[in-house]
Amino acid sequence: MTALPLVFEAPRRGRPPTHLADLDVAARRAAVTDLGLPAFRADQLARQYFGRFEGDPAAMTDLPAAVRDTLAGALLPRLSTEVRSVETDSGTTRKTLWRLHDGALVESVLMRYPARAGSRERITVCISSQAGCGMACPFCATGQGGLTRNLSTAEIVDQVRAAARAAADGVLTGGPGRLSNVVFMGMGEPLANYSRVAATLHRLIDPAPAGFGLSRRSITVSTVGVVPAIGRLADEGLDVTLAVSLHAPDDGLRDTLVPVNTRWKVAEVLAAADDYAARTGRRYSIEYAMIRDINDQPWRADLLGDLLAPRLAHVNLIPLNPTPGSQWDASPIDVEREFVRRLEARGVSVTVRDTRGREIDGACGQLAATP
Ligand code: SAH
Repeated sequence: MTALPLVFEAPRRGRPPTHLADLDVAARRAAVTDLGLPAFRADQLARQYFGRFEGDPAAMTDLPAAVRDTLAGALLPRLSTEVRSVETDSGTTRKTLWRLHDGALVESVLMRYPARAGSRERITVCISSQAGCGMACPFCATGQGGLTRNLSTAEIVDQVRAAARAAADGVLTGGPGRLSNVVFMGMGEPLANYSRVAATLHRLIDPAPAGFGLSRRSITVSTVGVVPAIGRLADEGLDVTLAVSLHAPDDGLRDTLVPVNTRWKVAEVLAAADDYAARTGRRYSIEYAMIRDINDQPWRADLLGDLLAPRLAHVNLIPLNPTPGSQWDASPIDVEREFVRRLEARGVSVTVRDTRGREIDGACGQLAATP
């Protein structure tokens, strides 16, 4: 396996046009007054976008046509075009490929989890924060293609708007519903595009017309472990759920599976996550892809259990979704069960993630965006 260089700074390719969703409330009002319109028009526009998930200015019929045209030209440029959507899991999972203004491709995945005893229905969108990814994890499809560029705030936010709209329109089996959860588990490393991701979180959480008014707890930022950015995220005071892609409890193996580990070691990443938990009062998730004969040995389960037992952490095991060209496979079910048993024996809480979207290459780590 060859180590690919880690890329933290995306190349500057065609900057996306400024959009309403890039701006906070004050900046929107300023932009609208600069156009010679009264500031309340900014809020009207935002109510359409964040409150009714309307992205198309032509459909904003509560605005006079001339005002609409002026606002649309300045604040609602077309950010993306849907290339195609594919469905699986009896229509409860839907993956969409988007083409951005400069031709860059990203994917997002919308999933419905029906209500079960003790839990309400959830509709989750898995979004991308970058086109491609520079983190080079060898088992991840996105990681193989390298980084194309950072997405703008609006390019990230608009994936959520489109998903909320699709859910409300009833495109998923089960009829119209309300988008409840957002996970940054699509393409890209969210904490390598920090300022746009932080601005996105504000748009997701702030109540309408500032943003969508989603609950903080229903938003998960997943990271390879960019330690300084985890600290910044805690400073932000947004209290979203943090997920850390650990995949190995020991530095020797993690250096290979998550190459950023050569920069920030397991102990540093866990210390940053502990600090996040202490400051936000939120339990964090440890993601662990189960890769046959690579990271699934009983002794690694014991080591992981010992590391996590004293911490405010929950383990999410992900059966590896093999990517094209990879020689790796998911762990056999008995090996997975033994891994779970050993973690639980140490008092660590564990869940095994379902493999939603597998047949449409829409499962974790399969997003590769080919036109
Ligand atoms: N860059 C972020 C988001 C990545 S996707 C991060 O690394 O956390 C979300 C999760 O899917 C990560 O834990 C990632 O390691 C995992 N993943 C990537 N490829 C996978 C694959 N082929 N099978 C299972 N999980 C995978």
